[in-house]
Amino acid sequence: MISTNSKDLLAMPISEFVISSEKVAHVQIGNSAEHALLVLTRTGYSSIPVLDLKYRLQGLLSMKMITEAILGLEHIEYEKLPDIKVDTIMDKNIAVIKLKDTFQRALDLVINHAFLCVVDEEGTFAGILTRRVILKQLKKYIYKTEK
Ligand code: AMP
Repeated sequence: MISTNSKDLLAMPISEFVISSEKVAHVQIGNSAEHALLVLTRTGYSSIPVLDLKYRLQGLLSMKMITEAILGLEHIEYEKLPDIKVDTIMDKNIAVIKLKDTFQRALDLVINHAFLCVVDEEGTFAGILTRRVILKQLKKYIYKTEK
């Protein structure tokens, strides 16, 4: 059974836990796979959002998607990297959450995703919500209620 306090946590809006867009590494549609590879390598993130010129979320890009796109039969075709556009290889099937959504919805989604992309009411990219942040909040709550 869910106690009143955990109900409060689950009903909280996610907005205060979001890593805001200006702090999130991203690439834009039209950028090359070479550029994306540099961003992913330098930041060390496993996957990053792909945005359009109006800052709307279009997809997610990971190192694996880039590697698969240049994988030949015998060797890795690095020379193809500048000609591949990120929007042709990105994953369009992304876990999206709205700024006004609740902690409970985020908790359900982060079971299968390391981070969620957050959009505002107009669909503009607002930032990300990571599994790490959700777990930290949950840990804080559990330790507090155990005392
Ligand atoms: P973390 O919780 O820091 O381990 O992040 C988990 C995943 O979320 C990373 O591997 C990235 O894919 C993504 N991520 C976290 N922080 C950022 C950021 N500032 N910019 C872009 N992606 C991020």
